Parts: sequence; structure tokens; C-alpha cells
Amino acid sequence: MKALCVASPNHMVIEERPKPSISSPTDILLKVKTGGICGSDIHIYHGSSPVATYPRVIGHEIAGEIVEIGKEVSGFGVGDRVVIDPVVSCGVCYQCRIGRRNVCGQLKVRGVHVDGGYQEYVVVPQSSLYHIPAGISWEEAIMIEPFTIAEQVCSRAEITKEDVVFIMGAGPVGLSILKRAKLSGATCYVSDIIGAKLDFARQYGADEAINAKNVDVKEEILRLTGGNGATVVIDAVCSVKSFELALSYVCSAGRVIALGFSKEPSAINQLSITAREIDVRGSRLHNNKFPTVIELFTSGKLEVKDMITHCFPFTEIHEALKLIENPEIENGKVVLLF
Ligand code: MN
Repeated sequence: MKALCVASPNHMVIEERPKPSISSPTDILLKVKTGGICGSDIHIYHGSSPVATYPRVIGHEIAGEIVEIGKEVSGFGVGDRVVIDPVVSCGVCYQCRIGRRNVCGQLKVRGVHVDGGYQEYVVVPQSSLYHIPAGISWEEAIMIEPFTIAEQVCSRAEITKEDVVFIMGAGPVGLSILKRAKLSGATCYVSDIIGAKLDFARQYGADEAINAKNVDVKEEILRLTGGNGATVVIDAVCSVKSFELALSYVCSAGRVIALGFSKEPSAINQLSITAREIDVRGSRLHNNKFPTVIELFTSGKLEVKDMITHCFPFTEIHEALKLIENPEIENGKVVLLF
């Protein structure tokens, strides 16, 4: 079978590998059908991920069809359509015991620390699989994982309809968070410096789309909130500066959610957090959000078709990467077909 392997940074190869086989009685063998390309895959490809190791078969947004099941598998059968949870946790450490398995002490992420799903066949334990709702296409199914990220952010921010949420950055993550936050009934403002991305934000229900290139963002947020500031600020820009700025947009008793992986320090003073009792919270991956997100897909509350803009056969990975990195083309989710 063929696998897409980042042999070393900037070196993507289509490798011939033996087809994997089931080794544990609770394992399941999948024929991979679709794989989404995520910003983090691009970082691993370029060697700018602080956590990935090489060589690595990447891919963590994966849907496939079951072709074989282990002897003790229950609830799944050959022919079932499933998505893979990329989070692998130990289940016994403090974090796992309190239900925070996404920050497990032994955390492994498929496609990052261990091989992922950009291969024709993959073996996964049944505990990492979820059924794809009927009526959801293979292409749409790969959007389930990105929405677990959005679900996690909204849960960390405790978003309700009372909230005024300011999402900094209208890339794929920012836009997914917007869609999810709107389902909670929150007022949502979004900023970016690219007009086409702001158009997507408007289309997905943003109450205001702010071009940070032309507008004093702080003034605009204060104007929109009657001088109060946003109750939740989500930094989906993830730069040293955006994290600093996030603190300046949030109101007293508000929450700032950090998503970035930068190791560079940001200059933030204690008073801005203490005096106003700001909660600064990180959000990483997701903890058991697949069932919640799948329910949103099943009920039709989350529509994701409009977020998928390009599909490529997986052997055309280099063309897909070129498209994603072409600043002239405003792409949404790019899907690999296996
Ligand atoms: Mn992703």
C-alpha cells in the first residue's frame, strides 16, 4: 500500500509500505477514504511543529471504511463508516482520571507523535473510532475532527448566549469556532486582515467582521460592546503580539483562550489579569468531544459542506500543498481522496 510520509522537514514522499494487520483483539483495520489537510500538517511538513517527530506519516482528520475487525470488537462491523480520534492517552494519569485526556502525561497524537492516517490502510483500536452519521459524505466526515477543536475551545470558554465573543483570525480554526459559537447563541465578532476570509466569516454568521488592517480593533471592539470589551476573546492568530492584544479586548471577568504554540514570550502585565479577574486558558485538541460534534452533524445543526473547497487524489499531495500555500488562492478545507 501507499503512505504519505514526511521523511524529514520539507521532504514529503509517497512510500510503499506493507499493509498493516490487526495485532490486538480490539483492533480494527480501516480502508482510508478521505483525509483533511490541517494547518498543523503544514507545520509538520515544514519542520515548524514544536511537537512532531520524523519520519512521520501525517494526517489526523481521517475517515475510512472498516475492512476487518479483531475478535473482541463490539459495536462495529465490516463496512461501517468511521472517523478516527487522533488523541491517544494513557487513561490512568491524573489528567486522564479527571477527564482531561487531551493533556495526558503520556499524550500521543496520531499524525504528530505516532503515524497518522495518510495511508491506504490503518489499524486503530475500536476505542478511537466513531460512526459517521448517515447522510454525511466522506468529504464532510473529515470536518468532524476540526469541529472537536472548536467544541473544545467553546467549552473551555464556557460560551453561552450571554457572551460577546471576539474571534481573532478567520482561518479554518477561527471560522469553525465561529460556527460553533453561533450555535450557542452568542454574539460573535471576527477579525482578520484578508477580505476574503472576512467574507467567509460574514457568510458563517459573524455579527461583525473587522478588517484589522484598516480599523483600530480595540476602538472597534469597545464601540461594539458599549465600552465594556468582549466577554470572551479567542486568539486564533497565535502570534506573540495577538496574545498580548487579546488581553486588551476582554472585559472584566472575561476569558481569553490561547491556541498558539509559540515559545516566544509575550509581554503581559499581571495587573491586566488580576485587577479584572481575567481567566487566561489554553485549549488543545479535545477531550471526548467526538460524540457531541457527531450529534451536531446528525441533527443537521452544523453544516460543513460550504467549508470544503478542494479535493485531490492523495498521490497529488504536492499539488494540494502548492494550492494551500498559494497566497493568491483563498482555500477552505482541502481534502485528500484515498
Ligand atoms: Mn486538524
